[in-house]
This record gives sequence, structure tokens and C-alpha cells, in this order.
Amino acid sequence: MVCKLTIGSIKIRIDDMENTDLKTKFKAPLEFLSAVSAKCPKCRIGKMFSTPIYNFGGQKMNPECPHCGFHFEIEPGYYYVAMFASYALNIAEMVTLVVAVYVLTDSRSPWIYSGLLIANCIILAPFNFRYSRVVLLYWLTPGIHFEAWRTEQKENEKGI
Ligand SMILES: [Zn+2]
Repeated sequence: MVCKLTIGSIKIRIDDMENTDLKTKFKAPLEFLSAVSAKCPKCRIGKMFSTPIYNFGGQKMNPECPHCGFHFEIEPGYYYVAMFASYALNIAEMVTLVVAVYVLTDSRSPWIYSGLLIANCIILAPFNFRYSRVVLLYWLTPGIHFEAWRTEQKENEKGI
């Protein structure tokens, strides 16, 4: 897009970013896909966790983003808030499971529901642990946003 300004007898032509050096061909990863794959919320490239989600040794979270160096634990005790996100995830999963079992089986036995809910808590605990932190970093912390320069900086380093 080209914009032309006329002030008196002076004509100014303003090109937008298409022809300037500021335009890059870099395309930022989508926020949701980055969150699902537990990538850094700042650069969306570095991994937040160094281990797989289901692992006998437990999950290990990187203290800093391996790509851009963003420190994940912003302040001491920051991840206590993730408990609330984990609780909300757990409740959502339980309600979904109970409704699905009721619709599919029409069962009224409390033992089936109790067993399924306990199994759900145990099986999905690693999932809730990981994604409660992801949700906290991506959507519940106001100061954390995607910063394209963190990604571009590394992209430029690769090109050199
Ligand atoms: Zn990063």
C-alpha cells in the first residue's frame, strides 16, 4: 500500500513496510500450537520442558528458555498459582468424563464413577502438571507476551 500526502505544494509519498528493511519473511508460530507443544511464551521456539510428558523420572522444566534465555520462574513461588489452573483442568476433565460415561452407559453405580474419577486424576496428573504451567505462562500472567525480536534474533544468528 502506498500513501500520498499533499501539504500545500509539497508532495510526500509514503510506502508502507513492504519495501523497507524492517519487513521480514519470518512468520510467527501460532499461539495455541505453541502452547500445546509447551514452547516458550516469549519466542515460541524453545521448549519449556526437557523431558517428555509421560516419563518415569518425572517431568523436568527448564529454568530458562534454551532458545531466547527467558527465565520461566518469574519470581519465587510463581508456580503456586499453577495449582489453581491444575484444579480447573481437573474439574473440567472430571465433568467431561462423568457426562460422557453417563451418556454412553447410562450407569447409576457410584463405584464406576468413583473409580473412573480416581483413575482420571492419576492418569492425567502429568498432563495437568504440564499444561497448568503452560496456561499460567501463556494466558494468566499479564506481563508475558510473544516478542518477535527474540525469534528473529536467533533466526539471524542461524543465517550468519
Ligand atoms: Zn524463548
